[in-house]
Amino acid sequence: MMRNSCLICNSKDIEEIIDLGSHPFADTFIPKSRYGEADKIYPLICDLCSDCGNIQLRCITDPEDRYSSHDYSYTSSNSKFARDHWENYAEEVAKKVNLKEGGFIVDIGSNDGYLGEQFLKKGYCVVGVDPSEYMANLAKERKIETFTGIFDEKIKDEIIEKCGNADLVVANNVFNHSNDPLNFAKSVSQLLSKDGKFVFELPYWYIGLENKKFDQIYHEHVTYFTVKSSKSLLENAGMKIISSEIVDYHGGSLRIIAQNKNEVVEDCLEEKVMIEKEELNKTFEPETYHKFMKEILEKRNIFLEEIYKTKNKGFPIIGVGAAAKGNTFLNFYSLDNKVIDYVTDASEHKKGKYTPATRIPIVGDDIFSRYNDVYALILSWNISHILKEKLHEINPNIKFISLPS
Ligand SMILES: [Zn+2]
Repeated sequence: MMRNSCLICNSKDIEEIIDLGSHPFADTFIPKSRYGEADKIYPLICDLCSDCGNIQLRCITDPEDRYSSHDYSYTSSNSKFARDHWENYAEEVAKKVNLKEGGFIVDIGSNDGYLGEQFLKKGYCVVGVDPSEYMANLAKERKIETFTGIFDEKIKDEIIEKCGNADLVVANNVFNHSNDPLNFAKSVSQLLSKDGKFVFELPYWYIGLENKKFDQIYHEHVTYFTVKSSKSLLENAGMKIISSEIVDYHGGSLRIIAQNKNEVVEDCLEEKVMIEKEELNKTFEPETYHKFMKEILEKRNIFLEEIYKTKNKGFPIIGVGAAAKGNTFLNFYSLDNKVIDYVTDASEHKKGKYTPATRIPIVGDDIFSRYNDVYALILSWNISHILKEKLHEINPNIKFISLPS
């Protein structure tokens, strides 16, 4: 099934801008018992809406398949970098929105409950919402009560009935996962108390475009946000942006704070400045992406030449970082377990599993100590400096192959 109208403004005026070939779900790692099963594979194509600037995937996939058919493997507290980020987030956001003592927070896409726990420690009341039963159980261990399911009107009503309206709704790296972001936003608007605030954070499309990175594109990400498209979406749901900023997460994320529109909410200056910059840099012009596609395809050929030369010399190549964005790279470059020997990751939820479609075994970083001459391909480019230092401690002979930049 395909989307033929804009998810934010309903316009039919949408045009193809990016085609990355066929990909499996990027955040589904395969357990040994299901190694032999077929993966669901879909074309990964982005369309741009000429009316509101929204960028969305063309192919419709079932959220049940994306999050519930396997154990969803992404935990938001899987690295020190991530934990630090969420600790700071709780601190900064509570301050910025002036959250009242003991205020009620709903964390949509609460994952393993790590962020919720940070708010809980500050004396706030927190409930989570997450489609994954597995994650809900992890969150329960952190004392975060979790409504299991995909956030929609029904879950919103359940929360209001059980707990009342929320002083703060947070939805990090989840809004962009929704097959219906407009209804998502409308439900958030109704969930908020009178002066309640809505904070969401997600990969900022504009930064990816500037850095020529396409690894935030995968089936779990249905829409790709700019400040301009956020504004359209929130306005269509009766909300207004009160703050927008760039934060250092996922290689550059957008953090937006909004609230329900009323006469006293002032216009947000940062919003205006950021939209102007997006427009000035031709973020909403198809021509920009035709050039982008041409460049990434040329770089792919050069990169693959280097990879195969290394492989031909008989050296092992080990990927570092079993993350969703790494899977976009592996599938775009068609690098499977015949080329990449292992992918390493620190998460106990991923070790022992395999990458989707490419079936590369996931192991710990200690694998590097087994080899003399070994090449490392860092798949999480946004934290590569941290990873390189760590790996050289395990094996000082590691040579690095860089992803095209
Ligand atoms: Zn639109």
